[in-house]
Amino acid sequence: MCGGHEVRLLFIGPPGAGKGTQAARVAQRLGIPHVSTGDMFRHHVSAGTELGMRVDSIMKAGEYVPDEITVEMLRERIAEPDAAAGFILDGFPRTAGQVEELDGLIGSDGLDSVVVFEVGEDELVERMLGRGRPDDTEDTIRNRFKVYQEQTEPLLELYGGRGLLVHVDGMAPIDQVTERILSVLERS
Ligand code: AMP
Repeated sequence: MCGGHEVRLLFIGPPGAGKGTQAARVAQRLGIPHVSTGDMFRHHVSAGTELGMRVDSIMKAGEYVPDEITVEMLRERIAEPDAAAGFILDGFPRTAGQVEELDGLIGSDGLDSVVVFEVGEDELVERMLGRGRPDDTEDTIRNRFKVYQEQTEPLLELYGGRGLLVHVDGMAPIDQVTERILSVLERS
């Protein structure tokens, strides 16, 4: 994973599972960008862009932003020069349609590994209520779970079929999760 070798990873798991934190840490260690569609949307909302205004209420409701908006934003991001060294996708793809689009952009063999965060539901709700984000009210959290289970969980089977899944215990201490991910990736 050095000498310019390109590595493309996807981090997937329910909301509040620690994906964002781990994606930032692992990306830094590997020297590749952390690409979070959620962070990108939040930047648009706080900057008051046209896109931000379109997605604000969708995010507050805990729904998914329509694929065409999300895919276009992602497509532009991974076309930037820093992404040539690889990237960690955090929170994209989240729907079967987005997987198809991503396959079109990087090829169906374009990802090296898919890291799956496993966590208990009670701990998740507790964690999320603790982070104080505007889309972290209890109703929104409950809806985000439902949407995740309905639309995103099925992707695990799809990526499992491609032999890409790496499971990590998201409830382990933060440093331990990071080291576990890095050691699994080194071996693959
Ligand atoms: P996240 O920070 O990844 O939990 O994303 C926060 C919110 O942004 C989600 O609840 C969605 O409303 C929206 N979002 C982020 N990524 C996507 C995506 N790939 N598809 C649709 N909506 C997304």
